[in-house]
Amino acid sequence: MLIVMDSAASAEDVRRVVQTVESLGLQAHAIPGAQRTAIGITGNRGSVETGAFENLPGVAEVIPVSAPYKLVSREAKRENTVVSVGGVSVGGPEIVVVAGPCAVESEAQAMETGHAVRRAGATLFRGGAFKPRTSPYSFQGLGEEGLKILAKVRKETGLPIVTEVLDTETVELVAEYADCLQVGARNMQNFSLLKKLGKTRRPVLLKRGMSATLEELLLSAEYLLAEGNYEVILCERGVRTFSDHTRNTLDLSAVPYVQRISHLPILVDPSHGTGKRQKVLPLSRAAVAVGADGLLIEVHPHPEVALSDGPQALLPEMFADLMRQVRLLASVVGRRV
Ligand code: PEP
Ligand code: MN
Repeated sequence: MLIVMDSAASAEDVRRVVQTVESLGLQAHAIPGAQRTAIGITGNRGSVETGAFENLPGVAEVIPVSAPYKLVSREAKRENTVVSVGGVSVGGPEIVVVAGPCAVESEAQAMETGHAVRRAGATLFRGGAFKPRTSPYSFQGLGEEGLKILAKVRKETGLPIVTEVLDTETVELVAEYADCLQVGARNMQNFSLLKKLGKTRRPVLLKRGMSATLEELLLSAEYLLAEGNYEVILCERGVRTFSDHTRNTLDLSAVPYVQRISHLPILVDPSHGTGKRQKVLPLSRAAVAVGADGLLIEVHPHPEVALSDGPQALLPEMFADLMRQVRLLASVVGRRV
């Protein structure tokens, strides 16, 4: 259930509603909006009697929420959520471009890539220090050493850092260094990780699982919001289908679908979505055209020797060309880069 407060409701009115919700043994989540506050109710097993709230001062409307997600929905918050990642707004008029290597391999590799993507106009730097690999014999990432390198890249380039957190044990460690914690596709339904990240005060980039429906993606985001973390960015990165001409099938229709039912920003990752360097540029153009709030692009100065995802990494000059094209297209859809 959702309680929408009147635009003239006072803080005391909101407090009274929250107290009434809690006195029923339920949780209240006050979501301040530009015009009015909405209060989401969770913790109920069946439907909640609306009468207890309808006549409280300051209450404009009591809406039974039929969708399984509550706090991520536009019913809870009509205007777009803008998440600040180290001062960079994600979900505003500006299209953000998160760029960098799949994995941090060395200081030289990360620094060279950082400077190149910064010059080309990227807004955030990415790179994995803890890598989820299909094979236990593949490069697993540099761990904390990789995080230290990321911090150095941020210091030299000024770009805030997005990096993956693999498990609950390393949440504090990764949060010490990162401006935004990425939950990878393989962890989208790691509910203990989501609950823990919901309690941290760091933005989360939540990637769609490789066989997750959008409802499942939004319910995973709901875990984060239900624990109090509203700084959530979604990411479409392709799903597994029968098509084998690309690594995954990038589902661009996810963007307008998610934007209709949720206020959370959504990025598109054409690197993992296609797995092929030559397909990244055309699908980046398509992602901008479809209304994505940003892109996530893997870049490597020497992809032939990359320790992970070399075939999909753009060379720095290809990335610079992508930025030029994306900038032109952004104006067509009323955005900026
Ligand atoms: C990544 O971003 O490098 C990554 C591992 O992505 P995904 O979880 O989408 O496969
Ligand atoms: Mn990768």
